[in-house]
Amino acid sequence: MRGFKDILPLDSMKFSYVRKIFEAVSAKYGCDLIELPIVEDAELYFRTSGTDSDVCQKELFEVRRYKDEFSNWVLRPEMTASCVRAVCESNFLQERKLARLAYIGPMFRYNRPQKGRYRQFIQAGWEFFGGSGIEYDYELILGAIDFISHFDVKFTLELNNIGTAADRTKYREQLSGFFQDGRDPLRVLDKTEDCSNVPCMKINDEDRKKFDDLCKMLQKSNVCFVHNPYLVRGLDYYNSTVFEIKIDGQAVAGGGRYDYLASKLGYKELPAVGFAFGVDRIVDAMNFKVENDKIAVICLNEANYTARVVENCRNAALNCFVFWGLDLKKALTISSKEAYNFAIIIGENERISNTVQLKNLNTKEQKEIKLEDLSKNFIDNLFRLI
Ligand code: AMP
Repeated sequence: MRGFKDILPLDSMKFSYVRKIFEAVSAKYGCDLIELPIVEDAELYFRTSGTDSDVCQKELFEVRRYKDEFSNWVLRPEMTASCVRAVCESNFLQERKLARLAYIGPMFRYNRPQKGRYRQFIQAGWEFFGGSGIEYDYELILGAIDFISHFDVKFTLELNNIGTAADRTKYREQLSGFFQDGRDPLRVLDKTEDCSNVPCMKINDEDRKKFDDLCKMLQKSNVCFVHNPYLVRGLDYYNSTVFEIKIDGQAVAGGGRYDYLASKLGYKELPAVGFAFGVDRIVDAMNFKVENDKIAVICLNEANYTARVVENCRNAALNCFVFWGLDLKKALTISSKEAYNFAIIIGENERISNTVQLKNLNTKEQKEIKLEDLSKNFIDNLFRLI
């Protein structure tokens, strides 16, 4: 199926690694993980992203109804609207007032597949609810930078402030004379690469001050960014702060403030700011050395003794993959190729002496180890000594 991919072992390790970092950074910034359905009512996106947005016009995957049940269901193209729906429908925010949610999961958009653009892709995002001050924008952007800094990739942060709905209405009028193509000029601008002759947006004084204060806070924390006055984001629900993080000119994350999304859905007003990273794009860009934390156990015709050894190892917190009855050379070749650090080799001599052969697959050194000495600490220490 075009635009869908299978993620097989070794590649899946990269995804797990990104997920692990995401969960750690989310915890560091006080976020709680949430899980939401992958289907939503299409109306949710018509009301939040705008019916003429790319997402609503051509990218929604419709879900066929089940038997006679009517459905307007679609596969979620993003998570922000779902998060707002979920917190507003529950009484989650009633007591706490403030919340920081983190999510990671698959999104679906029907678009033409190309490099870095898939029909199913994983997004990792945060949504900070309840705070309207730029301190929240600041901390959220700081967290996004903290997260992407773990992957040894060169990135740039682009920042802008798109003011209020009234500012954007004025700007639309100004741009409509400029683009003259019938579509919403902000959507055209969002897609325009060379903006050199395009007029900039004028925003209200309050948002201008907020933008300056945010820049100052980020500068004080040594966060590098560029002001991109043409960054408007393609969805209707943003206001005030918006930003994107790019790798080689392609966006790896997008985010901003969306203080009026909840009220667009008919709920009470809820100030909010959030971001979403494209995990597939991080995986495509990052330098990653596969770290295999399993031990290759190679059993040479000693099934019962090997079973005992493996049980001991697993009880001692060692992860084992057993090559039952595979030729020694073949098993060692596979283990080295798949970045195993250690192999345990078990033959008749080892059974008789209650030992195993422990082989360091990086240095090729081999040692005889007593069965009762097999533990994670012991092997880690041995690795350091070799
Ligand atoms: P957006 O909500 O469109 O700004 O998306 C946020 C991030 O998700 C983007 O910066 C991309 O990294 C990622 N993303 C969006 N669409 C796709 C896609 N079709 N395939 C892969 N990643 C995507």
